[in-house]
Amino acid sequence: MKRAIIAGGTIAAISVISAAAYGVMQTGWFGAAPRQAAASAQTAALAADPAPTGATPPASQPATIAQAPQTSPQPAPLPAAPPAPAPQAVAPAPPAPAVPAQQAAAPPVQAIAAAPAAPPKPVACANPNGMGLARVVEIDTAGGPGFGSQHFKSYDFLRDHEVALTFDDGPWPTNTQAVLKALADQCLKATFFPIGKHATYHPEILKLVVAAGHTVGSHTWSHADLQAVIKKSGIDAAKEEIEKGASAVHLMAGAPIAPFFRFPDLRHPPEMLTYLGERNIATFSTDIDSWDFKIKKPEELIKSLIGKLQKQGKGILLMHDFQKVTSIALPQILGQLQKNGFKVVHMVPKGTLTTLPQFDEAVLKENKLQTLTNRPADSVVRTISGE
Ligand SMILES: [Zn+2]
Repeated sequence: MKRAIIAGGTIAAISVISAAAYGVMQTGWFGAAPRQAAASAQTAALAADPAPTGATPPASQPATIAQAPQTSPQPAPLPAAPPAPAPQAVAPAPPAPAVPAQQAAAPPVQAIAAAPAAPPKPVACANPNGMGLARVVEIDTAGGPGFGSQHFKSYDFLRDHEVALTFDDGPWPTNTQAVLKALADQCLKATFFPIGKHATYHPEILKLVVAAGHTVGSHTWSHADLQAVIKKSGIDAAKEEIEKGASAVHLMAGAPIAPFFRFPDLRHPPEMLTYLGERNIATFSTDIDSWDFKIKKPEELIKSLIGKLQKQGKGILLMHDFQKVTSIALPQILGQLQKNGFKVVHMVPKGTLTTLPQFDEAVLKENKLQTLTNRPADSVVRTISGE
């Protein structure tokens, strides 16, 4: 069954940005510098039946995720991921040509086909054998386009043997840092969909994700199944899950985030797709679900994921930086991608998300504010007189 999901039509544009110009662009992104030359195409988005698919995680998963931070024994934290290469280290490139004006009015897929003849050079990588990014694509989220062939058909922007890496449910101690390190070792960038509550538990880890130059979207406040929320508590409760999650991730990241959203359990209530369209937030389903919440052995995960990818030839990959197995397997997964000729594409937003003040306030009320320093208390305050 298909249905038109956004009555007003969806305006979406994806632009190719050379990796060399990416450093400049990213500076502009966080500075919310306006970009002109909006390639746009008015297209009614058709969604495949959003009924749960085999990719739906078991019902027990959200409960696990929504619980309070665990104190389970974890190995010593890995060293923090090295900071993203400074924009100055990248060959200077004027930002203007990154999106040729003639792309205006071209449909998204054609905009991709109109990529520069010479493939963009990967950003300098400390690892001479690192994969580096093949492409950076900019996504115009106006009208709330949907991506990922499991649920959306309209905007299949990846070429053969291209993948986009996505990680959900973080930030989480040890596992997220391990994922960041594996990506940094290969000079790759990914898109993260953190849970609002998890962001409030571990803002310092979320800040590492931002500092490494990855794209950060959001994934609700408490990983609630929004179809169930609507049924039980109504549409406003589902909107609150989305907005509070976005506000929490934004506030804890300490930087603007992308207007990118992924529905928990990949359950897409049509009412919420309409709402996201009105909020100009893009929805990301997936092409290939790693099932890393179910597969617990790294070897099995690697084999399964690479097998699916070889079958499909390309796709947005759904993984979880929350999952231990993924944090362990990722170096080998990336190695297998490289060995099998796959290239990584980084998705970045054209603009940043504007959160709603009432939900920012709701998050701040529930959480103590973070300060710049997180030095231990005994290094901040010491007794200099008395006992
Ligand atoms: Zn999730």
